[in-house]
Amino acid sequence: MKLTGDQTYIKRMNKSLVLDTIIAHAPISRADISAKLGLNKATVSSLVAEWLDERLVLETGLGASSGGRKPVMLLYNAQAGYAVGVDLGVNYISAALTDLSGVVVARERQRLRDAEPGAVLERVVGLVRALTAQAPASPYGVVGVGVGVPGIVDGDGVVLTAPNFGWRDVPLRAMLEDAAGLPACIENEANAGAVGEQRYGIGRDASDAVYISAGVGIGTGLIVGRDLYRGASGFSGELGHMTIQADQGLPCGCGSSGCWEMYASEKALLHRLAPHPEREDLESVLRLADEGDAAAADALSDIGRYLGIGVATILNAFNPEMVIVGNRLALARAYVEQPLLDAVERRSLRQHRRRARIEFASLGLDSAALGAASLAISRFLAAAKAGEQA
Ligand SMILES: [Zn+2]
Repeated sequence: MKLTGDQTYIKRMNKSLVLDTIIAHAPISRADISAKLGLNKATVSSLVAEWLDERLVLETGLGASSGGRKPVMLLYNAQAGYAVGVDLGVNYISAALTDLSGVVVARERQRLRDAEPGAVLERVVGLVRALTAQAPASPYGVVGVGVGVPGIVDGDGVVLTAPNFGWRDVPLRAMLEDAAGLPACIENEANAGAVGEQRYGIGRDASDAVYISAGVGIGTGLIVGRDLYRGASGFSGELGHMTIQADQGLPCGCGSSGCWEMYASEKALLHRLAPHPEREDLESVLRLADEGDAAAADALSDIGRYLGIGVATILNAFNPEMVIVGNRLALARAYVEQPLLDAVERRSLRQHRRRARIEFASLGLDSAALGAASLAISRFLAAAKAGEQA
């Protein structure tokens, strides 16, 4: 039967809804899909048959019967393919291989010292190859790679600026697709972390959340109505550069001074404690604090207080359900949490504070890598729904 343009569009919409329903409610029977979507059973059966052909849906054992024959249940075939997510930190690079539902199959983590674009690309491609080699056999193989970058990224995957790397106008998506031979998505790392926590982590039930990537610098990702809020040009979330010290503020790499990240990040922590060769990174400061070093513990507590000063403004501005503190400073939770909460208590408006939950990332250091992988998976599924996949 030849379908008209409108019919083709409607069929594609329905086919897409069938897959979304299976992903959200599996195991589910054809009859339950038809009840949920208000589509007739013959339509649902024919759309399910297409997804079965495309290997993104599986039939499994029999479900509970409401009287007659027990129905065959349908599952999302999360092992039909895999994705690689990469988190480019300022001083580390971490990558994960996940199945199509975000379950981690393998991960790699390395220190990053040389941030020159060519050197970083080489490391990313090396990790993508190493992880791809660990992917189990599947119909689609590795469907794409997502990369979270500590900088401002445009819609074409060009990193316009990454101050902590010294990058300007680096066409990372094109470079990576060329070198790795896979579709790539490039996203700001805080946005990727926000997506990771919202899809797979502590933010799963929150419809409005702000994720704070507190690492060497600070970035934020805004989830509004369960979706990433990108802003008019895709550049939202640079709250690390909100001014918290207007007079005699510390100069920041962005060109301004007194920015939040100059007071509440790993960079700020090390700056406070410098010069001291034993305090070269967060881990060494934590070790000293654990051993009773008062200067290290005080510095961590002060970072917590400054984090709280920014969180108070975030609560007042966005009235989110949840603020999620993630990335490296979440490792210092034992030292930063209480001063953070005290500062929030003192500085945010009572009505804004009352219902807001302040949490730490539940995916640990994987938030951005898993979020980046999920963006690659979303791109793959969108193409499959549009009928662009074999
Ligand atoms: Zn700044």
